[in-house]
Amino acid sequence: MQRESIYKQYQPENKPNHEKGVKAYWFVFNSNKMLINAEDGQIPFLENLKELNITPERKIYLGTIRGHPCYCAEVEKPIVHEKMDFYDLRSLYSVLGEDIYLLAGRAVQIINWDKNHQFCGKCGTSTETIDGEMAKICPECGFISHTRISPAVITAIIKNGKILMAKHNYGSYRRYGLIAGFVEAGETLEEAVKRETAEEVGLNVNNIKYFGSQPWPFPNSLMVGFTAEYKSGEIIVDGKEIADAKWFDVSELPDMPSKISIASELIDWYIENYSK
Ligand SMILES: [Zn+2]
Repeated sequence: MQRESIYKQYQPENKPNHEKGVKAYWFVFNSNKMLINAEDGQIPFLENLKELNITPERKIYLGTIRGHPCYCAEVEKPIVHEKMDFYDLRSLYSVLGEDIYLLAGRAVQIINWDKNHQFCGKCGTSTETIDGEMAKICPECGFISHTRISPAVITAIIKNGKILMAKHNYGSYRRYGLIAGFVEAGETLEEAVKRETAEEVGLNVNNIKYFGSQPWPFPNSLMVGFTAEYKSGEIIVDGKEIADAKWFDVSELPDMPSKISIASELIDWYIENYSK
């Protein structure tokens, strides 16, 4: 599946220059849940959030989408409205159009960054947003904070036409999935692939090739997909983090991951290339 680009209909800007009274798209969050109209699956398209009796704690201009201005905002208390309600962003993938969904992923990260960087991480002084930039500066010590992205690698590992999948022991994701983990300071993406594979299942891999990437706003990651070939070792799982790991044939693949993630694209790639 070819994903849409966030920039297909979205033009990022840091300073609004639209006229007063113009309708805007509003990405409104409460505890990472986003406000939509449950009847038509649309986000609010309004001049002002007062029309929904909402006074946001914070609002940030994002630019324009489909030629209309758009904002992200946060409310502390979920509003009571007959049609509008807050929904988990992951559950909205099939409801929102992909362009709105992608921008919602940007919006939630920006609103959380704004909320979590009100004070300087170095000296504790109240920060100020740098004019025209997505950055905050401390007026006391000059420390600058940009939006934080934590890259993670995810790899389709192949051995004799079979793909490696592992089952985690914790969290909500207990199905078989691909080997994945956060990149650590000082290592390359390829080194992160090798380290994670060795740590999680005790295997060595080579022929690591870049596959593609995907913003993953849960909460602020960037998934970088790779394919790799088995090199050496026997599967060993620790039984704590990883419950089990196995090689799967195309015909015996476990439940597919959600279409929302790059994992499903990697498995589609495997099926396309390794079906007999
Ligand atoms: Zn400071």
